[in-house]
Amino acid sequence: MAAQILDGKQLAAQVRAEVKRKVEALARRGIRPGLAVILAGENPASRVYVRNKIRACEETGVRSSALELPESVTESELLKRVRALNQDASVHGILVQLPLPKHVNAARVLEAVSPEKDVDGFHEANLGALLAGEPRLVPCTPAGVMRLLEHAAIPLAGRRAVVIGRSTIVGKPLSLLLLQKDATVTICHSKSKGIELMTKEADILVAAIGRPKLVGAAMVKPGACVVDVGINRLADGALAGDVDFEAVKSVAGWITPVPGGVGPMTIAMLLENCVRAASES
Ligand code: NAP
Repeated sequence: MAAQILDGKQLAAQVRAEVKRKVEALARRGIRPGLAVILAGENPASRVYVRNKIRACEETGVRSSALELPESVTESELLKRVRALNQDASVHGILVQLPLPKHVNAARVLEAVSPEKDVDGFHEANLGALLAGEPRLVPCTPAGVMRLLEHAAIPLAGRRAVVIGRSTIVGKPLSLLLLQKDATVTICHSKSKGIELMTKEADILVAAIGRPKLVGAAMVKPGACVVDVGINRLADGALAGDVDFEAVKSVAGWITPVPGGVGPMTIAMLLENCVRAASES
């Protein structure tokens, strides 16, 4: 039997509608959530991501602004801009679009964002809170994956979860969130040996790798829930995930498509984080 599709596009629309209602409730308290995005350089993919985030803000009533800076911007100029936004009471969320230009120390810029306005959840204070089991602002992509799993009522407690990828943006925080829901979590990475032996045991298998179609049907336990975080541009311009969707959908019990799976959830969770930051300001 073919896997059930975990439809991130549909769920994200539902989350955006909830966000809109929360924005209206905040407006009655005289608060209008505001997001400031800093975009440095000419990366075309970053421009598309920022445009989509700004559009989603407009749709839900979150005020947004994009600060576009040239590739040549200095680290001290970026730090100055971040600190100014930290002081701006009309800004509740600050997002520094990655990657930053190569000459800039991205970690230093991210650490300059006030943790209360860190809607990407990348500040050490927020990552530390997650590690301590008391999450505050959680990175958006892992939060989106968890919402998809929750919405589909995928059982997690006592189940085996395998996450391929250990980035600070996706793999590590997602592993912690799964652990918090009492899954038994294994994290794989580029140095892991015999990955397929582990993935074949997984009730929940997450691919956050950045390698098109690396996860094939032979790596998947029949009936497993397979979440594909990957977004890869193929030579012909088409998008592909890290999972071979066509092959895996006949083995898995649930599967996220690319596009239309985790991607839309990431932006929806960003909006949620903005509303949360504004309501706690
Ligand atoms: P990343 O920082 O490059 O991390 C990739 C991870 O995959 C690393 O931990 C790496 O291991 C591991 N890896 C690489 N090749 C591997 C292999 N052959 N076998 C096992 N593990 C391997 O990437 P990321 O930022 O986490 O993003 C991962 C993917 O998700 C990308 O396609 C990205 O575009 C996508 N993404 C999507 C969204 C969304 O909204 N849907 C958001 C963020 C990212 P090492 O640590 O050993 O190098």
